[in-house]
Amino acid sequence: MDGIKKDYVFHRDLKKKYPIITHGEGSYLFDESGKKYLDACSGAVAANLGHGITSIGEAMAEQAKKAAFVHTMRFETKALHLLAETIGKMAPDHLNKVYFTTGGSEANESALKLARQYHRDAGRHQKHIVIGRWQSYHGNTIGSLSAGGDVKRRHAYTPNLLNYAHVYSPYCHRCPYDRQKDDCLSKQNWTCVTDIERSILELGPENVSAFIAEPIVGSQQGAVPPPLGYFKKVRELCDRYQILLIIDEVMTGFGRTGTNFATEQIGIVPDIITFGKGVSAGYAPLAGMIVHDQVIEGIIENSDGKFIHGYTYSGHPVAVAAGLAALDVYKQDSVLENVKKQGLYLFNRLLELKQKHAFISDVRGRGLLMGIELVKDREQDLLFDPAEKAAERLNGIAMELGAVFYPGSGSIDGTKGEHLIISPPLNVTKTEMDEIVRILDESFTIFKLQLRKDELYEITK
Ligand code: PMP
Repeated sequence: MDGIKKDYVFHRDLKKKYPIITHGEGSYLFDESGKKYLDACSGAVAANLGHGITSIGEAMAEQAKKAAFVHTMRFETKALHLLAETIGKMAPDHLNKVYFTTGGSEANESALKLARQYHRDAGRHQKHIVIGRWQSYHGNTIGSLSAGGDVKRRHAYTPNLLNYAHVYSPYCHRCPYDRQKDDCLSKQNWTCVTDIERSILELGPENVSAFIAEPIVGSQQGAVPPPLGYFKKVRELCDRYQILLIIDEVMTGFGRTGTNFATEQIGIVPDIITFGKGVSAGYAPLAGMIVHDQVIEGIIENSDGKFIHGYTYSGHPVAVAAGLAALDVYKQDSVLENVKKQGLYLFNRLLELKQKHAFISDVRGRGLLMGIELVKDREQDLLFDPAEKAAERLNGIAMELGAVFYPGSGSIDGTKGEHLIISPPLNVTKTEMDEIVRILDESFTIFKLQLRKDELYEITK
């Protein structure tokens, strides 16, 4: 591969150079200089089984040799049916029909369109508005971006598509509605829920088609689970106003939080679940949506069963082969058990780190989707200035030390609030976990020294 000019590629940061990775093995990635990185975030929470699994690679190669591409508009394969059946059986009851896409953004885009068509075909023509949450990410296509709440990404492309509405997601550690957690939870009168109803009534229930949410807020907030009972209240509202509930499990699906889908933990049955990343353990562009029988029946009844949508690579056979092989590994390796065990271990180790470093103000998450909120000083509740890029800098230090995390910013109001996601492969070992915590610990110590240097520089300047 010598001689490849990496400058022909561009990423979101057009000035940045990234290390060139040559291969991966288990929880580690290796760059061209031989340096190894412990993948403490499984790529973008996708490589859920780690790197270099030969059974998955071989299954993909086998399929590619047979037929790299089947005409997905005119033919199906047995493997496609088997994968859909396997996924349908893993999903909550009544969600049985699977539609494949190549990525999470496409999956959410498809769900938003399916919801709209479902209502329109039933004569509810006006139902088109989607209510999303500010602290959420549903993808980068213009529809999924508009439904999501990533302020920075949205701002770059204003005006966003359609008049989608947003409410705040529950963040009891720092309530966006300024409520006190105990008071709010005990009175069962939650502003984060009443605000959804306010929004529905303001928009007119006859105009609202769907409510979309991540069960545990991922990249925008850093693994924040909802308070118990929140989604039950959301489900009730959706039922009251004939609004479809879409749960985005692109990040949480396939064992990440200790159950097949995080939906199991939030105690509701949604109308649509979207998935991606983990389904092929990140080995192939494979994603999709699992749809409730009632929605499918409605479409069959009212529009002759035609979903007016489609992608060239829906259910691509090589991706399907990767999906089947990955789901096999999940099963054989009792991955869910490991997630529960190592997740608890990680949670406790992060709490220890919190005692040591005033940078950590909150440790939260489920299974192996853990997050920490980063502040300048916990005692004074002093936030970082966004310009300090604290999470990004901390991750930069960790990468020097040989581990890569998932940094994020804007978790409080879109601009302020820094966090780090820790989400190693689901088959991570305890030794690797200790290594992750050790590197994180050292990174905080170095970061503290760097900040002191910055301060001294400011004073003497
Ligand atoms: N939804 C969620 C919750 C995600 O985390 C992501 C990706 N980070 C997406 C949707 C978009 O998926 P993709 O990047 O595969 O389009």
